[in-house]
Amino acid sequence: MDMITLLTEIQETITANKELLNDLDQQIGDGDHGTNMARGFEAVMAKKDSFAGKDAGQILSECAMVLISQVGGSSGPLVGTAFMKIGAALKGKASPSRAELAAAFRPAVEGIMMRGKSTAGEKTMLDVLVPALEAFEKNLNAPAAELQAAVLAEAQRGYDHTAEIIATKGRASYLKERSLGHKDPGACSSLLIIKQLLPHLT
Ligand code: ADP
Ligand code: MG
Repeated sequence: MDMITLLTEIQETITANKELLNDLDQQIGDGDHGTNMARGFEAVMAKKDSFAGKDAGQILSECAMVLISQVGGSSGPLVGTAFMKIGAALKGKASPSRAELAAAFRPAVEGIMMRGKSTAGEKTMLDVLVPALEAFEKNLNAPAAELQAAVLAEAQRGYDHTAEIIATKGRASYLKERSLGHKDPGACSSLLIIKQLLPHLT
């Protein structure tokens, strides 16, 4: 898997969906999630040339620092932590295998939980990431198409489910039951990132 290609694709999808993410955040937050994420991943891409010849772990660790300093908001430290954990787990791996990726994905999700003092079911990015991780681990040895379909289905289901639950973490929690009926912007950006990752899980 080529990490620079994947990061480029992630940046492109986040930038292309910047307004959608801002609109979702406008409903239950302050309307900046797309702007925050696009700023972060565009700053990562500005460092693209310096990634040449580095292994996946090193690249993702450097991304984490950029994301933490550039995304801002409550999502910056969370997304940054996830990249930091994945980077640490993939240290020294030029082209990580499927099993190595799954083993890196778990500490990333747990890192978000610890940093955010949050868990799935609170209308956050974790409502996409936790079921996606579980589907990844469950289908680790399945044919690629099956693995990809399972992770996508669970991530999408988790995203859709965020409309049906009340936010108990982050800015959206101030709205209490008024957060019902709106999907979570962080769950949306996580789904976008997972969608880019899936074709690389061969
Ligand atoms: P801010 O809320 O500071 O404006 P963003 O708009 O960039 O930051 O990000 C909001 C997103 O961050 C939410 O949609 C949610 O998915 C995620 N989020 C906020 N708090 C937490 C938390 N404690 N745990 C996990 N995710 C969180
Ligand atoms: Mg916001």
